[in-house]
Amino acid sequence: MTVKVRFAPSPTGFLHIGNARTALITWLFCQKNNGHLLLRIDDTDVERSKKEYEQAIEDGLTWLGINWDQKENQNNRLERYNEVIEKLKADGRLYACYETPEELGLKRKAQLSRGVPPTYDRAALELTEDDIKKFEAESRSAHWRFKLNHAPITWTDHIRGPIEFNGKDLSDPVVLRENGTPLYHLCSVIDDIDFGITHVVRGEDHVSNTATHVQMFEAINGQAPEFAHLSLVSDTEGGKLSKRLGAMSLKDIKNDEGLEPMSIVSLLARLGTSDPIEPYKTADELIESFDFSKFSRSTPKFDSDELIRLNSKILHETDYTEAKDKLAELGLDHIDEEFWNGVRANLERMKDAQDWWEMANGKVNSVIDAEDKDFMAKASELLPPAPWNDETFSAWTKSLKENTDRKGKGLFMPLRKALTGMEHGPELKVLLPLLGPEKTKKRLVA
Ligand code: GLU
Repeated sequence: MTVKVRFAPSPTGFLHIGNARTALITWLFCQKNNGHLLLRIDDTDVERSKKEYEQAIEDGLTWLGINWDQKENQNNRLERYNEVIEKLKADGRLYACYETPEELGLKRKAQLSRGVPPTYDRAALELTEDDIKKFEAESRSAHWRFKLNHAPITWTDHIRGPIEFNGKDLSDPVVLRENGTPLYHLCSVIDDIDFGITHVVRGEDHVSNTATHVQMFEAINGQAPEFAHLSLVSDTEGGKLSKRLGAMSLKDIKNDEGLEPMSIVSLLARLGTSDPIEPYKTADELIESFDFSKFSRSTPKFDSDELIRLNSKILHETDYTEAKDKLAELGLDHIDEEFWNGVRANLERMKDAQDWWEMANGKVNSVIDAEDKDFMAKASELLPPAPWNDETFSAWTKSLKENTDRKGKGLFMPLRKALTGMEHGPELKVLLPLLGPEKTKKRLVA
């Protein structure tokens, strides 16, 4: 069997950490099984769906390295949906309902106050011809529900294990609106059938939808695909992802935050699994180690700081040849290989390289207090010979300790103020080789 999966975003907003994770896990599973990935755009809600979002979703996926084999828009398939809807009506699996949202709301309230579950009471099945005529005379149009069989619904979920529902505990889902447009449930099932989807991977918020879908699959073609329902990610306090990076679109994480796509991929591929979260520069290892059995059913926590830590670790291992084009994209093509190698171990984000560049090459107002003048002259005299590397600073300060009466803060702070103009800032050990002997000398005597 060839694995065929789909990622089905609604283009009513941007990709965020939560839906990017569903996309990534679907893709990893697909890659692991040499499968086929369909990008299905769920755009039947024409008022809220926007081409701009559709494009941003595609850009976001591409940026993460997620590719797909086929793309379909639900909005191009309305004719096909109608065909199936007519067939289900003829089979007696869809029935017309005339309740207004207010009437449904009242029924719900009454059920809740009686302490019974608020499922639809199927009053529409009792309507007489006369009732229907009356509604139509009032120009009410019908919405249509799918009639669930009151029987057990079971499946073995790849993540949640054996699942059991009973049709009698669920509301018959609305599948066709008053205005004649089909709703997500039925469209999704028809697509999964028509495109030969073998595995549906999506968030656990869809579990009870899935129970109703299983009966729709059976009513249309007799067989449902396999399912994997992922636990939804929360923030560090266990709440909905709403803060910082957790709430940002991928577009902003890329452009404003300047993070590397592989830091997101490394984190989201392993979050909520029994495998360790580690920085990876390619997805190979993540594909290789992928297995649904490693996913936990508890809620994984997304931590922005963990993402930043992975980002730094990835940058620390990024060679200049890999960084070059990205630096150019950021307008940082003045950063050459030597400079990159000097600073990369100190970067959180690639764009931080520019702060180091300005520190080393820009204008710095050296601060030398009167009582430090002689010490600076000595410091200049004792500078180690070139070439300089990350050992130079300690060699230099060691000989300053031996040859002057300075130590601790009294030794380091005047050097820092002279070399950077500030009392806080970059590690001098890193800065020194970037400055080189000539600029260092100038700043010591300024
Ligand atoms: N458009 C639906 C969503 O974003 C798709 C769910 C599914 O995968 O079937 O929730």
